[in-house]
Amino acid sequence: MPEPTLARLSRYLRCLRELASQGVKTVSSAQMEQKLGVLSAQIRKDLSYFGEFGKPGIGYDVQHLLDRLTEVMQLDREQRAVIVGAGNLGSALVGYPGFAKSPFRIVGMFDNNFGKIGRMLWNLEIQDVHQLPEINRELQATIGIITVPAEAAQEAADLLVKAGIRAILNFAPFHIIVPPHVAARNVDFLRELEILSYHIDRLQGLSPDADPVPVDK
Ligand code: NAD
Repeated sequence: MPEPTLARLSRYLRCLRELASQGVKTVSSAQMEQKLGVLSAQIRKDLSYFGEFGKPGIGYDVQHLLDRLTEVMQLDREQRAVIVGAGNLGSALVGYPGFAKSPFRIVGMFDNNFGKIGRMLWNLEIQDVHQLPEINRELQATIGIITVPAEAAQEAADLLVKAGIRAILNFAPFHIIVPPHVAARNVDFLRELEILSYHIDRLQGLSPDADPVPVDK
């Protein structure tokens, strides 16, 4: 599935969860367009990819579509993750309350600083990163989150791959290289700000009363 489609599916899921929590039973692609700023034709095309076609004049069954997309994105099962780098960002992530409502569980926290190893962070003991491959045989995590400085990011990625991790979310401003069987995504916070900086000038001429235009469409 192309990456932009995947990103849109994740937005559809969020919208459908909201509708389901409000007790809404059906939704049309036009109503979803209004909520998300994604063209209804695009929504119908994305959903038809999974054999989901709304009923003419009625739309999609919210709960059915929610269940189907949850299954497609493999969010119907627990996903175990470990964090490498128990610093500012790693500590903030491990304490994030939003995980409780998601299928993601942080099951391990690793660092290479002997002053930190053995300390408790929330309910997790910080462990030696060099023991990650061995420890993960028991933890069985499939996702690795990298929150180390840029110069240590590749080393962290290599250890995660050695530990059998299948997907990596990298917060360090360094483009990690991983083997083909491992998925990796980089969250480049400064790059996102650079893109927003471009939009500030581009959108300057628009009236504040105009319809909202999502910039990440
Ligand atoms: P930090 O210095 O507070 O924490 C980094 C941690 O990584 C430390 O605990 C350190 O001991 C550990 N570490 C260093 N080398 C290691 C290695 N080889 N193996 C295992 N652990 C190792 O830094 P931070 O502010 O948490 O930022 C972490 C990363 O996230 C950086 O790359 C930073 O650029 C990026 N980032 C941070 C923020 C933020 O708000 N703090 C925002 C966006 C991106």
